[in-house]
Amino acid sequence: PVASNSYDLVVIGAGPGGYVAAIRAAQLGMKVACVDKGWWGGTCLNVGCIPSKAMLDSSNRYYEAKTKLAGHGINIGNLSLDLPKLLARKDQVVKGMTGGITYLFKKNKVDPYTGTGRIAAKDTVEVKAADGKTTTLKTKKILIATGSIPTELPGLPFDGKFVVTSTEALDFKEVPKKLIVVGGGYIGVEMGSVWARLGSEVVVLEFTPGILPLMDQELAGRLQVLLEKQGLKFKFGAGAQKAEIKGDKVHVTYKVGDKIETEIADKCLVCTGRKPIVAGLGLDAVGVELDQRGFVKVDAHYKTNVDGIYAIGDVIGGLMLAHKAEEEGVAAAELMVGKAGHVNYKTVPGVVYTHPELAQVGLTEAEAKKAGMEVNVGKFPMTANGRAKSIDDADGWVKIVADAKTDRIVGVQILAGHASDMIAECVVAMELAASSEDLARSFHAHPTLSEAVKEAAMAVDKRAIHV
Ligand code: FAD
Repeated sequence: PVASNSYDLVVIGAGPGGYVAAIRAAQLGMKVACVDKGWWGGTCLNVGCIPSKAMLDSSNRYYEAKTKLAGHGINIGNLSLDLPKLLARKDQVVKGMTGGITYLFKKNKVDPYTGTGRIAAKDTVEVKAADGKTTTLKTKKILIATGSIPTELPGLPFDGKFVVTSTEALDFKEVPKKLIVVGGGYIGVEMGSVWARLGSEVVVLEFTPGILPLMDQELAGRLQVLLEKQGLKFKFGAGAQKAEIKGDKVHVTYKVGDKIETEIADKCLVCTGRKPIVAGLGLDAVGVELDQRGFVKVDAHYKTNVDGIYAIGDVIGGLMLAHKAEEEGVAAAELMVGKAGHVNYKTVPGVVYTHPELAQVGLTEAEAKKAGMEVNVGKFPMTANGRAKSIDDADGWVKIVADAKTDRIVGVQILAGHASDMIAECVVAMELAASSEDLARSFHAHPTLSEAVKEAAMAVDKRAIHV
């Protein structure tokens, strides 16, 4: 008989990478345990994707009620903000979803263990519960899916009160009068948007010359202008150097060119990057190799250098996104049982959930040209899309980048109110190696925002109808 603490696979970490891998492995017939400190759903469900989107939605409703509804003939008397209720709704959304993971584990017969996991040997994981009690799990395979934590900047150590991470910025109990955001990546502009809409004066300090350096710079520039209209201020080429707490304010010193400048605020959110969680996992002792930046090194099958130990998600680096971790989780589980799991890294979508949203997949025009490709680009403005006009959400553009010789789509960028959903068909098109003509000749229901994707595809061949 098999001992109850004996498994085919022990997954350490129940984020979108770990919990998805655990469920897929169980579906494939493995006996699976999943260990987490208690954050079922990981960063994503507890302090990442889900609570941030809940707050983006609430704050956008408030902002639109303030700025847009009168234009629709809807007059609201005394509009006011109940922040505790807004935060409670966000917490409720998180609670419902994390509870859903425990339900899915039960349904798929994955055994959850609450505690800190440590690899004691390549076939042994020790789980230390909060009360100090240790459970030993024997296993054939181990999957490391421990995710990442925010990186501290020298001179701006986190204190949880004045200099904070995104986790605290998802739970400020009062709207800060002024908020400094260090880092104009997607977390910075999303959280900056939330608090600006709720009434904060938000100043974003960004080292590079524009926001969102990983996104299409033409559309990111357009988004920046729209965010400025919403009240966010940006300082570019600004390197934050030091944060000092004086009274109940934080003074942030930063360098622009040769000049040293200071911003004074109630809170300073630092979101300049995240680093892998590997400390305390026992990786040294079993000999699991890390790369120079501290990420767990894996091969194309998510195997570390130690036989039987695998890793996926944020802890292996690359794009630190929930859906990337999930796809790696599925692929790793399938590869473990000899199936052909595969992740197509050329089609990982990236989305910034500001308003409008900025979404992209594949190569931008600039990246394609840099790679030596000859491309045709089709562009279509949301202002020429009937649905966008009728829902009062017409800021933005769709851009389709296609190989000039084969017409195969190599990338799509969308700035639009619902770009996160519009990008999905472009991901599928790229996955199926579609040409821009395939998209252009596919039906798109009228009136929908997605018609802008079709028209941009038509514009690749200079035959868009509505511009
Ligand atoms: P995580 O989700 O980080 O999960 C790792 C888990 O491992 C955690 O639950 C942790 O408790 C556990 N753990 C760590 N060490 C141990 C140990 N020794 N023992 C037991 N358990 C351990 N991505 C998107 O795709 N879309 C978004 O909109 C988005 N928004 C974000 C917003 C914010 C504010 C943040 C911070 C992140 C956001 N992300 C978003 C990124 C996304 O959350 C991560 O890419 C994703 O969660 C990574 O998944 P993972 O499974 O690799 O790790």
